[in-house]
Parts: sequence; C-alpha cells; structure tokens
Amino acid sequence: MPDSRRAAVVDFHIHCYDRPLRAPESFVAFMDRELAKTYGSFAQFLERYGSAESYLRVLDDAGADYGVILAELAPITSAIASNETVEALCAGQPRLIPFASLNPYLTENPARQLERLVRDHGFHGLKLYPTYSYFYPNDPKLYPVYAKAQELGIPVKWHTGTSVFPASRLKYGDPVYIDDVAVDFPDLVAIITHSGRPIWYETAYTLARLRPNVYMEIAGLPPRRLLTYFPDLERVSDKVLFGSDWPSVPTLKGNIEAIRALPLSDRAKEQVLGGNAARILGLGDPRRVSYAGPKPTDV
Ligand SMILES: [Zn+2]
Repeated sequence: MPDSRRAAVVDFHIHCYDRPLRAPESFVAFMDRELAKTYGSFAQFLERYGSAESYLRVLDDAGADYGVILAELAPITSAIASNETVEALCAGQPRLIPFASLNPYLTENPARQLERLVRDHGFHGLKLYPTYSYFYPNDPKLYPVYAKAQELGIPVKWHTGTSVFPASRLKYGDPVYIDDVAVDFPDLVAIITHSGRPIWYETAYTLARLRPNVYMEIAGLPPRRLLTYFPDLERVSDKVLFGSDWPSVPTLKGNIEAIRALPLSDRAKEQVLGGNAARILGLGDPRRVSYAGPKPTDV
C-alpha cells in the first residue's frame, strides 16, 4: 500500500495487452527478442501478467505506489490494448490509474467517446499515438477531443520521438506540434511522452520551460543518462514525470534507484518520481473518486 510518510512514487507509463493478443507480426517478433532474457518469450510474459494482482506486484517490487496503465489503439504498428482491457484491469484498484486511447481514424466522434470513457468508465487521462497512427498532434480533427479533455480536467499525453516498432513514422513524433495544442488549450495538461527522444530533446525541454501547461515524461530514456540529455533538468523538475515503459524495461526498481542516485536536489527527485504526477492526477485528494467497476446497468 502507498506509504504516507514519503512522497508518492508514480510510474506514468505502463503497458498492457489484449488477450488473445492482437498485434502485427513485426511487433510480436520485436517483443519476443526484447523479453526473451527476462521472461523467455512474449507469450510467456503474457501468461504471467494479465491480472491486476500481477501488475500490483510489479509496483510493489519496485517500491512504486501508483501506475498509469495505458490503452493503445494503433493496429498498424503495435499491439492493441483496448479501453475495455484497461478498464477491466484497473477497476476497483485505486493504485492502477487507467488512461484511455482514441484513434481518430477508427472513431466517428472521438470527443463524445472520450466523455463517455471518463464519465462512465473511470478513465483519468488520454494517450495518443501520432507516430503509430499517422497524424500530427495539432491535427484539427483532434481539437474537439482536446476541448473535451480540458473541460473534463484530464491530462493528454502523446507518444513523441522514435519507436522501435517498424511501421511507426517519425515525422509525426516532433513535439513542436504539441505547442499549438498547449497554446490553444491553456488549461489542458499536455505531456510530451519520451521527451522527443532523441532528436527533439531540446524542443521538449524548451516547451516544458516555456509553456505552463506542458510536461515532459521520461519513459524509455535511460535514467542514468538523463542529465546528459537535459543538463538543466533541475530547472524544470516541476514539469518532469517519471515513467518506465514497462515491460520494455527489465526492472522498474532499477530505474527508480537510478533517478534517486542522480545529482539533483531531493525535492527535484521527489517531484520527478511522483510529486508532479500526484498533482496532475489529484492523488491524495479526498475528492478524487476511484473507479469501482461497471455499474450493474452497464453489463
Ligand atoms: Zn510505451
């Protein structure tokens, strides 16, 4: 259980997958290679990690209090993690925080769908995958979605920078396109996932400094090298969010320890590891209601 004597540790970036698996062959081949050492194969990983309990164990082993669980709807590029799968995993588990996804090419009225997902299904944020599904973050067809997210008070995060999955297209991953969204929706929390790795680190850092509502998330970046990529990280430490990208990282614990070992102030480390996320997500706020699962009328 979360330890109230220390600042919360929040992993802002954890994946899950639909069962049976729905994924392109190239994705499965990559995951087989990636997970061979730790789990034997992707199939063996999927057998072990399907339940909420298995995800809570991952958090406990790392000393993390909360994990943001991400839906993913990019069928050309990566495995599907449907909103339903994420909802089922997180229902009744206040430590597992569900983030929905929308694919503007697969949904007729994404803004209305977002409203339903948040109001009726307990989602606390939205993740979009521009490089996986081929749209720019400032695409006008997404503006109603951003307006709705701002109205609902939920954060939006975009995948930015490179991806190892062969079908992804890098041009959509330039975080500079998030600037339009941040300016047009000043009350929307806008999160640059992967901080534009590696060719747009400066863009990500600049936006986090410049725009009060823009945050950088460091999932998938080796924490030991953070200060090489961002020598002035301390200056934006109120705008940086820790995330692991599990299961693509072997241990979450190693990542957290590596951040604690960086030459940053204690306060900066606390903010990066969970303080900022807790503020954005309203963790510890007694008015925050955690989702108990579908109401009887829904099933
Ligand atoms: Zn990821």
